[in-house]
Amino acid sequence: MVQAVVGVNWGDEGKGKITDMLAESADIVIRYQGGANAGHTIVNEYGKFALHTLPSGVFYQHIVNVIGNGVALDIKKLFRELQSIVEKNMPQPRLLVSDRAQMVMSYHVLFDQYEEERLGGKSFGSTKSGIAPFYSDKFAKTGFQVSELFLEKEVLMEKIKRICESKNVLLEYLYHKPLLVPEEIYEELMEYKKLVEPYAGNVSRFLWESLQSGKNILLEGQLGALKDPDHGIYPMVTSSSTLAAYGAIGAGLPPYEITKVTTVCKAYSSAVGAGVFVSEIFGEEAEELRRRGGDSGEYGATTGRPRRMGWFDTVASKYGCRIQGTTEVAFTVLDVLGYLDEIPVCVGYEIDGEVTTEFPTTDKLAKAKPVLEVLPGWKCDIRGIRSYGELPENCRRYIEFIEEKIGFPITMISNGPGREDIIFKN
Ligand code: GDP
Repeated sequence: MVQAVVGVNWGDEGKGKITDMLAESADIVIRYQGGANAGHTIVNEYGKFALHTLPSGVFYQHIVNVIGNGVALDIKKLFRELQSIVEKNMPQPRLLVSDRAQMVMSYHVLFDQYEEERLGGKSFGSTKSGIAPFYSDKFAKTGFQVSELFLEKEVLMEKIKRICESKNVLLEYLYHKPLLVPEEIYEELMEYKKLVEPYAGNVSRFLWESLQSGKNILLEGQLGALKDPDHGIYPMVTSSSTLAAYGAIGAGLPPYEITKVTTVCKAYSSAVGAGVFVSEIFGEEAEELRRRGGDSGEYGATTGRPRRMGWFDTVASKYGCRIQGTTEVAFTVLDVLGYLDEIPVCVGYEIDGEVTTEFPTTDKLAKAKPVLEVLPGWKCDIRGIRSYGELPENCRRYIEFIEEKIGFPITMISNGPGREDIIFKN
């Protein structure tokens, strides 16, 4: 059986915590898309960890952690992360890297920086991790697969020279930056080969065999539905699909095996990068929610950038749940809202004088104004509560109001960053 844990909105919904918690009863945890451009924060008995590339199953010895073919594999960052875990006295995690995964090259990171510089004020707010240039190359068929590290030198050099030729035209005439040297790219690849060789293998066959023997698999999504290049707020999106369905492709699994889609929804909104964010709030109101948010404020796990803040958006979340193919919702970070007398919720978008609850395409989104409904707060700390019935009445009202608006069942409520901070509803 395969269960996907994915994000409903713009990311940072608390997927890492939910995956880490569910991993206890799983056998395999897979990253299937994205790269080291976003992170999950996990708090457990070993300490606090920011994972960017490693799957969130690395804290369990019984789990095989898989980097699927759909990931933008930054090998140096992957191994730095592995090292940071071992340094905190955790046992070495079990890891399998797809031999079909492609690698983020140092020049992808440079191209990302150069392009953001060139766009100036019109930039996409990239984390400059090389993700967009990486996926562009993958689909232009000029990327490097892990399997190619094992090619004969002449064959590999021939490809490297061909790629350098076209990249150097851009570097010289568009960006006015130093050119790529084929020998240096070859050396870079050989460095990656040394690191990844012990872990590289045939992931789709491993997963097929694991499914035959009844293993439980978790797919761990990065970012959220609204950052999907097809169904999100294009062009302010990421470069690989953030949807549960893509798990079949990005890991090499039969699509019919993904029978459970757990969509993670945060009790308020946050976003990073550019793009329309209809329920966004500003000033002191935003600053207070940012400071109190998450487990230590709403600041990027990868970049440390302050996140943009907003009220819960039922329009975006209903759409996000639908496009993810949600079978259940995990509602997270609810404890943070305990300080508010009243909690506004965005229940509609007003576009050209008409109110809609359907999430629009980007051109119309730019004109949307939030329609807010205000719910009473519960004004107390709900951390430590373990049963749904013990939550304050106004808190249950908030949950049930949102459940009704989005139209998908909330089955789990997270009321703290730790593994044990979870309430099962129903
Ligand atoms: P992800 O990328 O979706 O995994 O989300 P992040 O890890 O970037 O952001 C979630 C943040 O909220 C992390 O710092 C978590 O430790 C924290 N967190 C997760 N669930 C809860 C919760 O229920 N309550 C609180 N207070 N923090 C939480």
